[in-house]
Amino acid sequence: MNSATAGRPRIVIIGAGPGGLALARVLHVHGIDAAVYERDAHRTARGQGGMLDIHSGQPALREAGLLDRFLATARGEGQDMRLLDPSGTLLHREDTPDDAPMLRPEIDRADLRDLFLDALPEKTVTWGYAFERAEHGEVHFTNGHRVPYDLLVGADGAWSKVRPLLTDARPAPVGQHVVEIGIPDIDSTHPDLAAMVGRGNYWVLGDGISLGAQRNGDGRVRIGVSFYNTGEGWFDSAGIPLDDPARARARLIELLPGWDRKIIALIEACDDTVVTRSISTLPAGLTWPSRPDATLVGDAAHLMPPVGEGANMALLDGARLALALAARPWDVPGAVADYEREMFERTGAAARMSASVQEMLMAPDAAQRMVAFFQPD
Ligand SMILES: Cc1cc2nc3c(=O)[nH]c(=O)nc-3n(C[C@H](O)[C@H](O)[C@H](O)COP(=O)(O)OP(=O)(O)OC[C@H]3O[C@@H](n4cnc5c(N)ncnc54)[C@H](O)[C@@H]3O)c2cc1C
Repeated sequence: MNSATAGRPRIVIIGAGPGGLALARVLHVHGIDAAVYERDAHRTARGQGGMLDIHSGQPALREAGLLDRFLATARGEGQDMRLLDPSGTLLHREDTPDDAPMLRPEIDRADLRDLFLDALPEKTVTWGYAFERAEHGEVHFTNGHRVPYDLLVGADGAWSKVRPLLTDARPAPVGQHVVEIGIPDIDSTHPDLAAMVGRGNYWVLGDGISLGAQRNGDGRVRIGVSFYNTGEGWFDSAGIPLDDPARARARLIELLPGWDRKIIALIEACDDTVVTRSISTLPAGLTWPSRPDATLVGDAAHLMPPVGEGANMALLDGARLALALAARPWDVPGAVADYEREMFERTGAAARMSASVQEMLMAPDAAQRMVAFFQPD
């Protein structure tokens, strides 16, 4: 009898993002141990990036026993939104009253990760272990170590190396190239721009181009300039010198002819951090035949356009898989099949909704469409 049939399955989770950590934490709440292996060398090894808008994922935080701490850490005012066109005309504005319910608060990725890590036994996450392959019931890591498992969960994000065990599907580019830049400590360095951006999201939607500025918990404003309907190699063909931040900013400004001076001033105020991103997605509604010993959560299972659903779905995936396993720990294959049935339906709907928002953003009349989208029924 192996340890799974004895009722104590050896659960190995690859990746300490929202999906993997929610799974480990909810299992822990139900008295089930799991081992998480993370490629990052330690918990502060890599900047975790910007803010996450957490709404439908909040029930997962409740299952994890972390909802109160999440609400105390998250920024309710991050729900504020200003939507403009390139001439600087304000088209739509939402201000969050101080006593508004925390329906879609924003949290720094690093803070969300810390919430989970602080609530897990220290030995749960092993840092500096990158998954290479799984063979004969053992995970092989790139550092040569091997670990046996009864259930292997790929929570290793967009470019998952676990995913090929379940499906041949690969992410494909959607034709959106993003240049990410940012203004540090905006309140003291550029109070005028701070007031213009406000406490949450500031969005300018043009024809095939958008600029999104978002205030982060540490006072930085992260700015993403997106170019839509763009093909492979776009960063080179657009002539943005990524190794020369000042010239990269100047070139970005050239690519926004006729945009209002105060919007351009946001780019001029940025520091020298320049990050690029080409957006890819998995097919919406992706499924696979269930396997008794492996499954996926989060972006590994359903990478979708970044319009505010991915982390929410990852959190729910982790919590729902943990609850399925806790309900029948002696039947891992049955629990996995139950989880996947619910996950495929839920995340398929979220992926289709995200794809339709993405389509609006890529349209020439994106601003008008988004204004209509935000109007109450
Ligand atoms: C710009 C942007 C903004 C976004 N904003 C939002 C938002 O507001 N709300 C929202 O819900 N979603 C948002 N998303 C989507 C969200 O970031 C993802 O859906 C979410 O992070 C997925 O969580 P995950 O745990 O599946 O994967 P990830 O967060 O990608 O975590 C995967 C982890 O696995 C590790 N890993 C990778 N490969 C290996 C390996 N071989 N071995 C070991 N470890 C490995 C990685 O280091 C990482 O820690 C946004 C995405 C982008 C790009």
